[in-house]
Amino acid sequence: MNIAFIAHDRKKDEMVNFVTAYEPVFEGHTLYSTGTTGTRIMEQTSLSINRFMSGPLGGDQQIGALVATNEMDLIIFLRDPLMAQPHEPDIIALLRLCDVQGIPVATNVATAELLVKALQRGDFAWRELVHKYKPE
Ligand code: PGA
Repeated sequence: MNIAFIAHDRKKDEMVNFVTAYEPVFEGHTLYSTGTTGTRIMEQTSLSINRFMSGPLGGDQQIGALVATNEMDLIIFLRDPLMAQPHEPDIIALLRLCDVQGIPVATNVATAELLVKALQRGDFAWRELVHKYKPE
C-alpha cells in the first residue's frame, strides 16, 4: 500500500507518537510524507519515507498528484483545526481529491487509529485491485 503522512506543526508530536506506536504495521508499505513531517518520523523510527516538499511549499499538492492518479491508498493527515494555514487552498484541494477517488483519509488521530487497525486486518486489500486493473 502507498501511505502518506502529513501533520501540521502543532500536530507533529502526535504524528510521531502515532507512527511510532504502529511502526510494525507501517513497515512493508511504501510511505510518503510532506517534508518536515517525514523528517520527524524518520528521526524517531527506522521507517524509510519518501519525502515531498514541505506542505506550505507544495508538498500537499505533490501528494495530491498521486491521489489524482489513484496511486495513494491511505492518507493520515493530522490537521491543526485551531490555526489558519497559509496553504489552506492546497489542503482543501487534497481532501477534495481524496473524495473524488474515494481514498481513505484520517484527519485526526482517532480516525487514524481505526484506519490503521483496518490496514492491519487487511481491509484495504481492495486497493490492490485498483492498482492491478489501473488503466495504462
Ligand atoms: P511539513 O508540511 O510536513 O513540511 O511541515 C505539513 C504541512 O504543514 O502541511
